Amino acid sequence: MFDVIVIGGGIIGLATGRALLKRSPKTRLLLLEKEPQLATHQTGRNSGVVHSGIYYRPGSLKARLCVEGGGRLLQFCKERGIATRRVGKVIVAVEERELSALATLEERGRANGVAGLTRIGPDRLRELEPNARGIAALHLPHVAVVDFVQIAGAMARDIEQAGGVIQTSTCVRRVARADGCWRLDTTRQDCAGAFLINCGGLHSDRLGRLAGDGVSVRIIPFRGEYFTLRPERSSLVSGLIYPVPDPALPFLGVHFTKMLDGEVHVGPNAVLATAREGYRRGDVSLRDCAELLLYPGFWKMSARFWRLGLSEWMRSVNPRAFLRAAQRLVPSLRAEDLCESPSGVRAQAVDHQGTLLDDFAVHSSPHALHVYNAPSPAATASLAIADQLVSELPVGEHHVAFGG
Ligand SMILES: Cc1cc2nc3c(=O)[nH]c(=O)nc-3n(C[C@H](O)[C@H](O)[C@H](O)COP(=O)(O)OP(=O)(O)OC[C@H]3O[C@@H](n4cnc5c(N)ncnc54)[C@H](O)[C@@H]3O)c2cc1C
Repeated sequence: MFDVIVIGGGIIGLATGRALLKRSPKTRLLLLEKEPQLATHQTGRNSGVVHSGIYYRPGSLKARLCVEGGGRLLQFCKERGIATRRVGKVIVAVEERELSALATLEERGRANGVAGLTRIGPDRLRELEPNARGIAALHLPHVAVVDFVQIAGAMARDIEQAGGVIQTSTCVRRVARADGCWRLDTTRQDCAGAFLINCGGLHSDRLGRLAGDGVSVRIIPFRGEYFTLRPERSSLVSGLIYPVPDPALPFLGVHFTKMLDGEVHVGPNAVLATAREGYRRGDVSLRDCAELLLYPGFWKMSARFWRLGLSEWMRSVNPRAFLRAAQRLVPSLRAEDLCESPSGVRAQAVDHQGTLLDDFAVHSSPHALHVYNAPSPAATASLAIADQLVSELPVGEHHVAFGG
């Protein structure tokens, strides 16, 4: 019998398990992960950027936890000897019509306390990124890149050193509340715990329903496809070059990211995926598609965004369209510079009205917490999100009070 069972060995589950044991060292904690390795899904398939917090509505959880969490994450890396690289970032307006959205971002950045933020013109942009083209930009000099898999590994070691148990290759199939505790039926042995924390990422809504939580949001998977630049062309980019994002969407647009190892990623786009873990274009899950088609929120979302969805799909099936999006920022990019690279899938929660949830979303039900929306910048914010989750738990001064 455990005090707390965390489902999900991505960065949110790991950070939460770690924070809980730091706060209440006597907690008997079990963390379950269905894959043989931790951090296999979103945490291991992202852009690796420690975001600054500029994009998010002031006062939102994303704004607060990203700024706080980003600083703490870099400190965590420093303490653990995990490599980070401050590459800096520019958000570039290419056309006049993007200037007002750029100004809004600047205001948000200032309201959110983003360090070092400056507005720059084309000359300074050319100094920073000689191959980028734009009429104005925001410069964020402190933005860094990291390897979130390494960070997740360090968090897992902390959990085990503090006495927590991590079990991989263990998929939770059923969850029931009986005799004052949760009973979990898994692909390995069954287990029981007093309190449940659902950090199931792409499956968090299903796990919530299994545990009897009545919320109506659904996870809709959006694949993000990447290309990498051929090594001899990686000098086209010095740091991170982003477009001005569409304010109607929680995605950032196709951008250039110089990764820790110097490789440059171009992407990701945001294509509706036909499987929650559909990393390739042809991956289809009948169950995932059927659930999607039966969800009214999906149809309402589609009615609103079909035009945008179609253009993202075009960019997915037609590499030339993808190239054109990237060339807006770096005109000298050529088709032969790009090689296909592994993709990631975002777990984006959508509600019954078809609204893409903009902020992080956590739902508390008796003896359980469910993380339903933790897309970007949740990896950046993970340490701060974890503390926020743990602060919502029924923890006594010296011990954990999860029973009953
Ligand atoms: C393309 C892309 C680019 C991104 N770029 C960035 C970025 O640059 N910076 C940033 O901060 N964020 C970025 N993000 C977002 C970031 O990766 C996620 O916010 C973060 O990784 C979410 O972590 P998680 O633990 O919630 O989810 P996950 O990492 O997906 O972990 C959930 C885990 O739960 C497990 N699980 C699910 N169901 C079960 C079950 N039934 N039983 C047991 N285990 C289960 C899964 O196997 C998985 O390992 C990006 C995401 C994507 C997809």
